[in-house]
Amino acid sequence: MGNQPLIVLSEDSQRTSGRDAQSMNITAGKAVAESVRTTLGPKGMDKMLVDSAGSVVVTNDGVTILKEMDIEHPAANMIVEVAQTQEDEVGDGTTSAVVVAGELLKQAEDLLDQDIHATTLAQGYRQAAERAKEVLDEIAIDVDVDDTEILTQIAATAMTGKGAENARDVLAELVVDAVRNVADDDEIDTENVKVEKVVGGATEDSELIEGVIVDKERVHDNMPYFAEDANIALLDTALEVKETEIDAEVNVTDPDQLQQFLDQEEKQLKEMVDRVKETGADVVFAGKGIDDMAQHYLAQEGIIAVRRAKSSDLKRLARATGGRVVSNVDDLEEDDLGFAGSVAQKDIGGDQRIFVEDVEQARSVTLILRGGTEHVVDEVERAIEDSLGVVRVTLEDGQVLPGGGAPEVELALQLRDFADSVGGREQLAVEAFADALEVIPRTLAENAGLDPIDSLVDLRSQHDGGTTEAGLDAYTGDAIDMESEGVVEPLRVKTQAIESATEAAVMILRIDDVIAAGDLSGGQVDADDGGDDMPPGGGGGMGGGMGGGMGGMGGMGGMGGAM
Ligand code: ADP
Ligand code: MG
Repeated sequence: MGNQPLIVLSEDSQRTSGRDAQSMNITAGKAVAESVRTTLGPKGMDKMLVDSAGSVVVTNDGVTILKEMDIEHPAANMIVEVAQTQEDEVGDGTTSAVVVAGELLKQAEDLLDQDIHATTLAQGYRQAAERAKEVLDEIAIDVDVDDTEILTQIAATAMTGKGAENARDVLAELVVDAVRNVADDDEIDTENVKVEKVVGGATEDSELIEGVIVDKERVHDNMPYFAEDANIALLDTALEVKETEIDAEVNVTDPDQLQQFLDQEEKQLKEMVDRVKETGADVVFAGKGIDDMAQHYLAQEGIIAVRRAKSSDLKRLARATGGRVVSNVDDLEEDDLGFAGSVAQKDIGGDQRIFVEDVEQARSVTLILRGGTEHVVDEVERAIEDSLGVVRVTLEDGQVLPGGGAPEVELALQLRDFADSVGGREQLAVEAFADALEVIPRTLAENAGLDPIDSLVDLRSQHDGGTTEAGLDAYTGDAIDMESEGVVEPLRVKTQAIESATEAAVMILRIDDVIAAGDLSGGQVDADDGGDDMPPGGGGGMGGGMGGGMGGMGGMGGMGGAM
């Protein structure tokens, strides 16, 4: 075969290897972290994101920013996943997790430059993360899940620095109340807290309805507006006569026959309504349509009916009223009915909705969230979601940590001690991990317009002296006892953040070869035109024989450079 090169990759695929691949990925990961850094903490700023259709989102929420940014670079996406996991597992701490991941990459870069092998780094990071979790367990504070005050503080801390801030105290109480209501013995699903957004009014006027609000009106004008002590039928079906599946043609030879046909249909509908009536139902929620004739009969019986209720609403209604969703009217029994002290159609923010309340045990609740404008309510909702998450996690675990960077400073301190016992080159990685965690207090200080070095020195000396609860008061700049200040977060917010940040950083560091089938740029930069016209700062590691292959980096690198 002589000296012919052997070609194993297709012509379209692009490949970056070794240090180039590493630094390209690290740059991308860091850029993601940089993009959310300024939003961290009580004094963090918000971001305005405009999508291609021109719709606008204003938010402080890490995971929302990253999702809206529509990031394409594969390594950058691994960092976005960190936020996503954090969101799914705990609901809060998304920005922190991403910022730590970015800092782990940044610290790693320095060590890679000193010729420390990526595998050594990965091992050191993993050891450090293990130790960090142990330390967090040691310093965690046990809380009594019946202690409303601490739960409210946790709920409020999660809303600090968000659009919800001015109504934080009111909202925090609602959140705690809501989560407690939906808690089952063994698990809590915050999906059972439905947030209904109402534009108009002040955020402080938000309220909790122990029951369900269905965004529908009663189906017929002659139906009553409300029912007291109501028995409720939940039907996952239509109150209509089924049309034949097969196209059938009915030949009508004289008008009587047609009348008979219609009478027959009417009779069937009447029977359906009678069935409902017999069970004793005062209210019917149907998942599908309700025939005009059936509406008429229902109205005649004084039954309130709602059609095309969402199946999620039917489930909620079943949970709240103790009823059962039935999928066939003929099978409906008295036992299947739910019960509510009040079912009423009411006006809310100029919109008619059906309120089902006064139930015995509201295992499904609705939080009516008010706010001046749509963007305000949307952002308050995101803050509420974080808050619901932290209260849930606290009720489940019963362990919290002080906020304001206190755990990170303590971890850094203890990890540096631990590093001495690790030895070898991993020791350097453990120390780098410790430094990386301090990005949280440093960023909290920076965002509050404080000197990050002064703040950190202050915090370190307090922790050296044994005050594990010392965190940064973003308002005064002092290092204070965060626990007595009421700034507390669930333990799991921190353990999860460390876990996913470490895993993502390690995964990125261990990659020494990026082989992409086709264009990674998502169409931004034409892969064929070489790398000469890449924007400045477009991914430092792009050199080598790769040309402009990884065009997507142009966008990401540009973003990093702009910070
Ligand atoms: P994340 O998405 O990571 O939750 P946030 O913007 O909510 O980002 O900021 C969380 C950080 O802000 C945590 O480190 C938390 O301890 C800190 N924090 C929250 N409230 C206060 C406060 N009142 N004073 C100081 N730090 C606070
Ligand atoms: Mg938060």
